[in-house]
Amino acid sequence: MKIGVDLDNTLFNTVENALSYYNKDYNDNINLEDITEYDMDKKLKIPTRDFFKKYAMPLYTNTLVFYPKILNMIHDLRTQENSLYFVSSCYYETIPWRHELLSDTFDWYTLDKLIVCNNKQSLNLDILVDDCLDNLIGGNFKKVVVDMPWNRNIDDNKYDITRLHIR
Ligand SMILES: [Mg+2]
Repeated sequence: MKIGVDLDNTLFNTVENALSYYNKDYNDNINLEDITEYDMDKKLKIPTRDFFKKYAMPLYTNTLVFYPKILNMIHDLRTQENSLYFVSSCYYETIPWRHELLSDTFDWYTLDKLIVCNNKQSLNLDILVDDCLDNLIGGNFKKVVVDMPWNRNIDDNKYDITRLHIR
């Protein structure tokens, strides 16, 4: 089977980590549970795009924390029968940092295991694990959503989504 695993907020804690920088810089007190929509413009004092751009460097080069449950899942799923890919719809500027981080973390990782794609439904995967419903719905693969405050407002059964609690 070909298994795709998203990066931000699936493999590691991108939003949670960036919020700790943001709260200090903007004297705000937003936590992860406050982010109930994927677009954070209504919650933050700066545009979502700027939020990710501003904190990308410290996050990817230093402070991101991997979710242990996803690390365990990756360890278990990487068998001779399965191929595992990281699938990210990231800002292109962050690709070198992501590549470095994955290289430092997984001894089996090579660049051909990283798929950068803004249309994940187009991928020929058997399973996709992702926190963003927009990446899962419509895909011709088994859909596993990583439970986050911004993806709870949906009937999982209607879209044949399996929910994974990792926090
Ligand atoms: Mg994500």
